[in-house]
Amino acid sequence: MNDLKQKMQLIWGIFIVMFLALLFSYGWIVSLALMAVNTYLYVRYMRCPYCQMHLPIVQRPFCPHCGNRILD
Ligand SMILES: [Zn+2]
Repeated sequence: MNDLKQKMQLIWGIFIVMFLALLFSYGWIVSLALMAVNTYLYVRYMRCPYCQMHLPIVQRPFCPHCGNRILD
């Protein structure tokens, strides 16, 4: 199991829920809260395990900064 891949899936999952929440009358409140959570998760966890640099939200199997393999 790739740890980074799971975090990425979690962030995308929250992103989808954010949009679904907008379908409800007060959903934008939930959506804003989820956006804050997602921003935190992204800043905190979406880093290359080798060089600690931030990774783009759409990931490639190799780190764009140091070239190390980060995904299976
Ligand atoms: Zn790297």
